[in-house]
Amino acid sequence: MIELRSDTFTLPTKEMLEEVNPNYLGDDIYGEDSYVLELERKAAEIFDKEASLLFPSGTMANLTAIMAHSPRGSKVIVGNESDIYIYEAGGASVCGGIIYEPINTQEDGRLLIQDIERAIPLNKEDPQFSLPSLICIENPHNRMGGRILPLTYLKEMSEYARSKELPIHMDGARIFNASQALNVEPRVIAEHVDSLQFCLSKGLSAPIGSMLVGNKDFILNARRIRKMLGGGMRQAGIIAKPGIVALNSMVSRLKKDHENAKKLGVGLSKIPGIECNVEKIETNIVFFRVIDERYSLIEFIKLAKYNNLNIDELGYGRIRAVTHSGIDSEDIEQALTIIKRIMN
Ligand SMILES: *Cc1c(COP(=O)(O)O)cnc(C)c1O
Repeated sequence: MIELRSDTFTLPTKEMLEEVNPNYLGDDIYGEDSYVLELERKAAEIFDKEASLLFPSGTMANLTAIMAHSPRGSKVIVGNESDIYIYEAGGASVCGGIIYEPINTQEDGRLLIQDIERAIPLNKEDPQFSLPSLICIENPHNRMGGRILPLTYLKEMSEYARSKELPIHMDGARIFNASQALNVEPRVIAEHVDSLQFCLSKGLSAPIGSMLVGNKDFILNARRIRKMLGGGMRQAGIIAKPGIVALNSMVSRLKKDHENAKKLGVGLSKIPGIECNVEKIETNIVFFRVIDERYSLIEFIKLAKYNNLNIDELGYGRIRAVTHSGIDSEDIEQALTIIKRIMN
């Protein structure tokens, strides 16, 4: 099976599963697991932030970040196509008593400052209004096709947020895809935001885990919230160890995923009955459409699966294909052959 539904299907490398030294494990609620401490040090250093915290999932890391930044009754400004708004079960409202204010998302994943401006009450003393406490942005943007937020935009956004005294949280689930594609150090992106979440379990291919980075006070607060949410883990080194290997050895290879995504897009754009805008492919996510009337979206996806190609729909009639460490250039050729055969 050629698995292109998501980069979360990546399996850990052998090295990730080898040699967990039990002597390095400890109770992380006591702060005594050496692997976790090493991973958290490493993540903070990579993003040039004071501290970092390991989470079982990106969802919990985002929720914790929102709760750490935002008091009850305040509102968090989010993109209407963001993972935080769409795929995280409304956690900030349920657990934090926080309102989501969804903002229209541009095709390239940006939230326009003028749109955010409208979510900020002119008179903060007017007791009718819930007050904004945080701006969340997503980079790269999943539902906008893995698009990368430009650095100039981030600078503008951070200046704006500072002028409004609002912190910025970046949902950087695939942040290393962005830094690799832009050819910059991750800290060059992170310098514009107060906190950032990234996943170890996507393109980096670790089995479990996400990291939250930010300043010391923020992470101290986040640590308590994580415990409250049930995310305090004991010998968490068994997931931190693969995370360390992921950061050491799985980052630079993401460029291959981007090449494969481009290759897939170019191939798809040449198949009659398929529509794919290659110019929009910036990282490892490819969106395309079937415009052949013989197939409905669901039928096409089923047929592909029957032919050993797993892809999925992502709303608005789009199909998403995601490249990752389990996919090589030959798999892409084979995927294209399968789709050509279906469209014949
Ligand atoms: C996957 C993802 C998350 C959530 O991560 P989980 O570990 O699946 O909870 C958050 N944001 C974005 C953009 C993602 O792609």
